[in-house]
Amino acid sequence: MPLPKTHLIIGILIVLLLKIFWLHDISWLTMIVIVIANVLIDFDHYIAACFATKRFLLLKNAYLYCINDDKTKVADLHLFHTVEFHLFVLIICFIFLFLSFPIFIIESSFAIIIGMIIHSLVDFINMAYHKESWRRYYSLIWWFIKR
Ligand SMILES: [Zn+2]
Repeated sequence: MPLPKTHLIIGILIVLLLKIFWLHDISWLTMIVIVIANVLIDFDHYIAACFATKRFLLLKNAYLYCINDDKTKVADLHLFHTVEFHLFVLIICFIFLFLSFPIFIIESSFAIIIGMIIHSLVDFINMAYHKESWRRYYSLIWWFIKR
């Protein structure tokens, strides 16, 4: 799984390519929200590390926990990376849309889900490349069944 700084760099590149070649009208705010969401989704690794060790960890220690996890086993549940969480955020986006929230809120909420999807695709491609794609719980329901 790529490090947050790798996600940051890839996120910035993808958003710039989107603006140049496709979404010319995309605002800087929306672009920034996409990039931030694309990085912050990994906060669930911190939550998972705290759950696994049953204590509040310093970010540095959570980072060490994450990079030293057993590569021969399925990883901890990363809640924000599940299909269900993506759907949950997408539903919130459409609720904002149908309730006619201010346009910057609607755009920002869709920017969040776009950032999450970019992140998840980059994670998946990276894990598939390293033959590690089996290590992730992609579904919260699947995690409930399997644990
Ligand atoms: Zn990730």
